[in-house]
Amino acid sequence: MKAPEFDYAAPDSLEQALALLENDEDAKVIAGGQSLVALLNMRLTYPSLLVDLRRIPGLTEVREDGETLRIGAMTRQRAAETSSLVAERCPLVVDALRHVAHPQIRSRGTVGGSIVHADPAGELPTLALALDATMVLASSAGTREVPAAEFFQGFLMTATEPAEILVDVIVPAIRPRTGTACVEIARRHGDFAMCGALGQVTVGSDGRVEEARLAFLGVSDRPVRATAVEQAVVGTDGGEAALSAAAELAVDGWEPMDDPQMTAEYRAQIARVVARRALAQAIERTR
Ligand code: FAD
Repeated sequence: MKAPEFDYAAPDSLEQALALLENDEDAKVIAGGQSLVALLNMRLTYPSLLVDLRRIPGLTEVREDGETLRIGAMTRQRAAETSSLVAERCPLVVDALRHVAHPQIRSRGTVGGSIVHADPAGELPTLALALDATMVLASSAGTREVPAAEFFQGFLMTATEPAEILVDVIVPAIRPRTGTACVEIARRHGDFAMCGALGQVTVGSDGRVEEARLAFLGVSDRPVRATAVEQAVVGTDGGEAALSAAAELAVDGWEPMDDPQMTAEYRAQIARVVARRALAQAIERTR
């Protein structure tokens, strides 16, 4: 199928882009087009106007800000994946991006586009949740910051209002003695995962787990934080027995979805497996 008709604008300032959105409630932002163009071609969305963000300066910067990293929403996924600053200060971003589709798609797709698109099988929304990222949303009225726990609201739904543009994603910089991992079950590398987990573990100087972060993708209508697992693993020696016991709590407090790829029961079992593997790999990679 072909996309429906729409007008197109490529403003060269954020203010102009926000004014265009403000004046037309059916206007939509386009970033890398890697999800939106498919939705247009399938006629799942009918915007009157596409506001292209690619000429707006300042949206592709990655910068350190104290103990955080601010990633501009229009940063191409491939640019973030190959950034030495991102690798040094937030390596879980790199782990996650290596599982997003293929290099060609990552060359066009943006960090912000993936987060606003909010595919529950997407790596970056899950990353945002696992790391307690903050999304900075701009509108004609100013900016507001939304924590990841409030940002993802359902299947392809976020707290972003129609007249808002995501400008920055703020992630905490990695602490010493921390390791990261992204573990997925997918038919082929680069496919959307049927179930996956992103983990980050900090080990104390006594060798015991000080902090654990874990979130799942491809398990529900939105990314899911594995809070019970995180709590169970903190304070342990991070050994096989401790991780297996913690991973048993993978689906505590939420229900995995049932779909043609996997029953809910099987997905729960896979969630336990990827949880254990992600934590074990993260601990192994502690630096
Ligand atoms: P677009 O497609 O341009 O926009 C997506 C949505 O976000 C639109 O609704 C748009 O209006 C909105 N939007 C974009 N930027 C902003 C902004 N700054 N502020 C407000 N709204 C905004 N993703 C994965 O995570 N894992 C995968 O395994 C994966 N596999 C893929 C395989 C294929 C074959 C393809 C084509 C895509 C795949 N993707 C996958 C999706 C890919 O990561 C996309 O790049 C991403 O989801 C959308 O980013 P984009 O920059 O292209 O956004």
